[in-house]
Amino acid sequence: MLEVVFLGTGGSMPTEGRNLPAIAIRYQGWVLLLDAGEDVQRQFERANLGTNKRQAIFITHMHADHILGLPGLLLRFSLLGRIRPLSVYGPNELIQYVKSAQNTMHFGTTFETTVYGIREGPIFNVDDLCVNAFEVDHRGYALGYEIVYQRPTGSFLPETAMNLGVPKDPHWQALSAGQEVELADGRKIRPEEVTGPKPPPIRIVYSGDTRPCQSLKQAATNADLLICEAMYASEHANLAEERGHTTAAAAAQLALDAGVKLLALTHYSPRYEDGAAIIKEALSINPNTILARDLMKIKMHKDGSHEIILPTI
Ligand SMILES: [Zn+2]
Ligand SMILES: [Zn+2]
Repeated sequence: MLEVVFLGTGGSMPTEGRNLPAIAIRYQGWVLLLDAGEDVQRQFERANLGTNKRQAIFITHMHADHILGLPGLLLRFSLLGRIRPLSVYGPNELIQYVKSAQNTMHFGTTFETTVYGIREGPIFNVDDLCVNAFEVDHRGYALGYEIVYQRPTGSFLPETAMNLGVPKDPHWQALSAGQEVELADGRKIRPEEVTGPKPPPIRIVYSGDTRPCQSLKQAATNADLLICEAMYASEHANLAEERGHTTAAAAAQLALDAGVKLLALTHYSPRYEDGAAIIKEALSINPNTILARDLMKIKMHKDGSHEIILPTI
């Protein structure tokens, strides 16, 4: 349904085991990329995310650890002959950044690249999925993103289908998968006629870099998954405040207060290489917390459940 792939879980500097921020979300043939930290193109390869998929890139802010991988990724797609157009969204400076990277390094792309400077609000929409941006509290202009997937139909109602005279074979399966069917007598049956009310959307929220703030809490309210930075443990709460970041404890508390179903902590400082201090602190406040690792995946199923797949390499 929706698959989140953590390509990089580091913050500020890469370490031996962790790359810089990049998160891919797979959805019906699409790859949505949140941030493009250094080495994202290699992680793309390792996660087998393809070259010519329908794709959009969302950048949270212009700090180097979140954008250094973008020119390399564009170059990679060109070298591999991508033809599908690609849209990139982020702060206004992103337009100049991509342009000057291409001009100074003398590379064009084999595909149409459009960079949009955005403010908060709805920015992207495809099929049943949309992406909204919201401003967060970092150093300089910074955004977080909310990915909203509206599940197309409620659960299939066999009795209603029977009452409407819809034969089980071959139509029930198509209707429960959200497709309209035509009966032998010419009647068309829409999935909404034989399914319960639409379930609430599946919502994934990504904080980018930020201090704990009201806009993040609001976006994260009742989210299925909050991917939140946790740069420091509480021992460095002063650094978090000074540098515009969140501690593990503050992330855990914010997720708890917002009713988040699952909190995944990422962008933790190189000083916590194994992340043990980060996850320990967060779990003491919020048990629905996991620590993201590079190439870890979270599958978000249609029924609202999730599955965590740890990397094998
Ligand atoms: Zn960062
Ligand atoms: Zn930053």
